[in-house]
Amino acid sequence: MASEIHKVIIIGSGCAGLTAALYAARAQLAPVVLAGTMPGGLLTTTSTVENFPGFPEGVDGTDLMISMQQQAEHFGATVNFGATVEKVNLDVRPFTLTVDGSEMSAQTLIVASGAGHRHLGLDSEKNLDKKGVTYCATCDGALPIFRDQPLVVVGGGDSACEEAAFLTRFASRVYLVHRRDELRASKIMADRVLSNEMIEPIWDSEISEILGVEQERVTGVRLSNNQTGQEKVVECAGVFIAIGHVPNTQIFQGKLEMDHSGYITRIEGAQTSVRGVFVAGDCSDKIYRQAITAAGMGCAAAIEAERFLACENQ
Ligand code: NAP
Repeated sequence: MASEIHKVIIIGSGCAGLTAALYAARAQLAPVVLAGTMPGGLLTTTSTVENFPGFPEGVDGTDLMISMQQQAEHFGATVNFGATVEKVNLDVRPFTLTVDGSEMSAQTLIVASGAGHRHLGLDSEKNLDKKGVTYCATCDGALPIFRDQPLVVVGGGDSACEEAAFLTRFASRVYLVHRRDELRASKIMADRVLSNEMIEPIWDSEISEILGVEQERVTGVRLSNNQTGQEKVVECAGVFIAIGHVPNTQIFQGKLEMDHSGYITRIEGAQTSVRGVFVAGDCSDKIYRQAITAAGMGCAAAIEAERFLACENQ
């Protein structure tokens, strides 16, 4: 049986979760953060973060997350590293969570479990990760290794189009590699990309291998045309993979309302379909997906949890 009933448990330790922890801690709610297997979240997988306000020289993603964690802890948050939620019961309050085989209870929950980048699943993709293979043009596009170099973007959705257009600011040329011969992206985005002379679409093509110098940096991609079977090599300094995201919401299937892709629905503000359960960050955001927006949503979720508890105690 769970002994202590926590006021707030936060699932996830990315920007959303740790900002929620900071606000909940300052509201004296003694939040517990279940950090999961990737403490710090997706930002720890990127190199320099140049678009988080307050850091004119940029900030290392991992350093930023450690600072956020320390700031939350300074005000009384407890961060449980490695703690992974296996099961949740949201039918009755207090809510119960099975965490690494033990039970925990909470009056409110903030779900900030994030999302993962969808991967191509190639060995060469893994080997050259952060050596030219990246999943975020906004985060990495302006890095010196990509300046005035040919770059490849993979995908045909809005994200791929947005990344391709963004990268034209830095690249000498952008190749948009898509597995079909038409884009999935919204018309306005597709038109913008297709009319941009800096962007060259490569249709019906899939990457069979990302090429690199002794696994140190990307030098090109080997493409296979899925209509003709023909192979070719395109030289590039970077491969930006934008083939969608997978929200980490599997344990909430059937318990919280979500869209067909698994993003948790916000009913009003940060409130989910279950009263007392709030959501923040990439597990409910498929539009912005930025560190700063996730942090803002974490702040909002904590404020709402605080108000919810205050109303109940009146
Ligand atoms: P998406 O719409 O799901 O598109 C993913 C793309 O990647 C598709 O073109 C898909 O090909 C391709 N793909 C998927 N798996 C692949 C694989 N294994 N190998 C090669 N290609 C693969 O994802 P998204 O572009 O990230 O967009 C997600 C949502 O966010 C959408 O609703 C989008 O409208 C929204 N969004 C909006 C904005 C904006 O409004 N500014 C910006 C970004 C995203 P197929 O087309 O063949 O399936």
